[in-house]
Amino acid sequence: MNDTTITLVTGANKGIGREIAGQLAALGHTVVIGARSAENGEKTAAELRATGADVAPVVLDVTDPASVAAAADTVEARYGRLDGLVNNAAIAMPPGTDQASQLPRSIDLDTIRTVFDTNVFGVITVTSAVLPLLRRSPAPRIVNVSSRGGSLSFQADQETWGGDQPPINAGYSPSKSALTALTLQYARDLQPDGFLVNAVCPGFVATDLNGHAGHRTPAEGAAAAVRMATLPADGPTGTFSDDDGPVPW
Ligand code: NDP
Repeated sequence: MNDTTITLVTGANKGIGREIAGQLAALGHTVVIGARSAENGEKTAAELRATGADVAPVVLDVTDPASVAAAADTVEARYGRLDGLVNNAAIAMPPGTDQASQLPRSIDLDTIRTVFDTNVFGVITVTSAVLPLLRRSPAPRIVNVSSRGGSLSFQADQETWGGDQPPINAGYSPSKSALTALTLQYARDLQPDGFLVNAVCPGFVATDLNGHAGHRTPAEGAAAAVRMATLPADGPTGTFSDDDGPVPW
């Protein structure tokens, strides 16, 4: 059995996920680059390998159970187990629309369903598929990349928004509220088995997700997830944090 720490990062072909993968590899992890496009995954893996990283791509669309099952089979065949899972893949808007767009600014069922399919149910699909592999790890870690935008107190705090009405994003923000809540459930369920399961917010990072409006770099945004993916055995579980500490639920 491979002695290195093997970590799967979803949506690792670009943005914050790519940085999480690169930083974990720099710390000595063997990183599986989950990407829904084989081409993009291979390109990113080749670029990271050129920096000395031990990475390998796997095709993984979190909304496609067959793709997720095949990815889990590939990881099992290659490594026999998994030590870490970083659920990073997410969308702000349905595919085919500009991810950075806040439109439609209305409560639209199809939009919400599509965003939840990726950001919430996709996480459950992937986690369920690789749980048997994580159970073979001596120190399993799960990190859910959530968002302060999903914090209920943040959404309710008008002063945070400078007195303006918060922008309506009825898919993305509630999907992250659900993801953070789900993190707690997983943490409680898996605590007896030695899992550490935590949610993080990367901060407002310049990526395709927000049309590069963020003020942080992807490298800065990756730090919180990397910290939680590399916790010591006595580390916390069931937390929600960013680089400044706990984020209000
Ligand atoms: P990007 O849009 O740059 O990257 C998103 C990644 O998720 C891409 O690799 C994308 O793949 C992948 N992805 C989307 N849908 C699927 C799917 N169905 N299956 C597999 N992969 C998929 O976004 P960020 O890097 O900004 O976001 C990373 C995480 O950080 C997300 O969870 C996001 O919600 C969170 N976050 C980001 C913030 C920010 O300011 N940027 C703030 C708070 C949280 P593809 O290239 O094929 O589209």
